[in-house]
Amino acid sequence: MNNKLYDKLIFELSRQGRRGYSLPETAFPDAVGSIPENLLRKSEIGLPQVDELTVVRHYTNMSTNNFGVDTGFYPLGSCTMKYNPKINEEMAAAPVIAAMHPDQPARFSQGALAIYHSLASALAEIGGMAEFTLNPYAGAHGELTGLMLARAYHDSRGDKKRTKVIIPDSAHGTNPASAAVAGLKVVPVKSLPDGTVDVEALAPLLDDTVAAMMMTNPNTLGIFERQIPQIAKMVHDAGALLYYDGANLNPMLGIARPGDMGFDIMHINLHKTFSTPHGGGGPGSGPVGVRAGLEHLLPNPRVVKKDDGTYDIVSSPDSMGRVSSTLGNFAVQMRALSYILSLGSDGLMEAGGLATLNANYIKESLRDLYDLPVDTVCKHEFVFDGLKDKSTGVTTLNVAKRLLDYGFHAPTIYFPLLFHESLMIEPTETESLDTIDSFIAVMRDIAHEAAADPEMVKTAPHTTPVRRPDDTEAALHPRLTFDEL
Ligand SMILES: *Cc1c(COP(=O)(O)O)cnc(C)c1O
Repeated sequence: MNNKLYDKLIFELSRQGRRGYSLPETAFPDAVGSIPENLLRKSEIGLPQVDELTVVRHYTNMSTNNFGVDTGFYPLGSCTMKYNPKINEEMAAAPVIAAMHPDQPARFSQGALAIYHSLASALAEIGGMAEFTLNPYAGAHGELTGLMLARAYHDSRGDKKRTKVIIPDSAHGTNPASAAVAGLKVVPVKSLPDGTVDVEALAPLLDDTVAAMMMTNPNTLGIFERQIPQIAKMVHDAGALLYYDGANLNPMLGIARPGDMGFDIMHINLHKTFSTPHGGGGPGSGPVGVRAGLEHLLPNPRVVKKDDGTYDIVSSPDSMGRVSSTLGNFAVQMRALSYILSLGSDGLMEAGGLATLNANYIKESLRDLYDLPVDTVCKHEFVFDGLKDKSTGVTTLNVAKRLLDYGFHAPTIYFPLLFHESLMIEPTETESLDTIDSFIAVMRDIAHEAAADPEMVKTAPHTTPVRRPDDTEAALHPRLTFDEL
């Protein structure tokens, strides 16, 4: 949209006295007079004054400046941005689901509790765990819940000296953050050049002060940790628990289960793997599963299926406590169950395989032009270390910005921190061969542009409404409110 009028903020479009609505006269004029003086507004509320058409154009134009999975390819690594089938939305929006009150008693909520219980059981099957809670609201919240549960486990055995968590240096940033919030000290463990955990470096870190080790498998480089049985044995021999970050479970679906690998606790991001639209801070859901023997520690309240086939909401004094006000983010749970049931176990297994095939196809199609630091078969994602030809001075940031000109969302950049020019790509299983081929063609074009006209790539994007915001200024001095002109 080139019309400058529509680039303005809604406050800038405001004109004194313009209206897009009219409210009826109050039917209770006396009630206004009975509001205590100290509760009455002292000054104008300062809302923009605009007509209806201006409001419609403002928001409609703004929505077309937005990029989402529904508008284009979004190959963000470590944060699965797969297509979210619309049937899930229909299910979650059904009045019988959307209009439920969170405090409705169990006897009037049997259908909702059946949804909770079915989803928890499906996740337990997928993860190879004994039981899941769906109460945590996000991946990081799931991590916090899992680590607090690990603490509760050690406490329940009277083992008070376990205050450390071991986390690989390639881990997602939320891992150390959650450990810190849980009151645990983070001990990093080095990765080998291929991105897997250095087992020799791990051995001396394990002792009776370690509460847990957190791992992501396949790790952030999309590499499967082949040493996992040995790592699990070492962690358990030290009396610690092994935690699985299953935020991006895509490549594992129906193929391998964390429970079978020796993990004791795990979380899953329903908003990544199980297809809820996400980004911009919500909504999410981070269910936590535990192996047999830890179920009693799961957070309150729990949903149980009774012998007569009905469901109940129970709380137990053995539990680690509460982590959420209710039974979690119900609409996200509904979407995940809808997704799982519509794919079925065969469909889920196919999704995992396709996610892996698509990632490897892109990797192999671009490796002659982009630097591939870890050269092996990947799972759902992989990492380039920038362009192969470093002489042009074109960085990963420039490539990412140039992609926007071609209508693709940029991949994850400068993460993981293992390489200087990380460019992390995860296509997911939901993209067609046509989309993937056109992405490959564009990535190849950009590499050639970088050689022929590096300045043009370094000054990209050239076609977006906002070109190069000052990242540092935006982080240090964000302007989040409208100041009257
Ligand atoms: C996204 C992600 C998380 C955090 O999940 P949130 O829902 O954003 O809190 C944790 N670990 C990994 C590996 C992730 O990709």
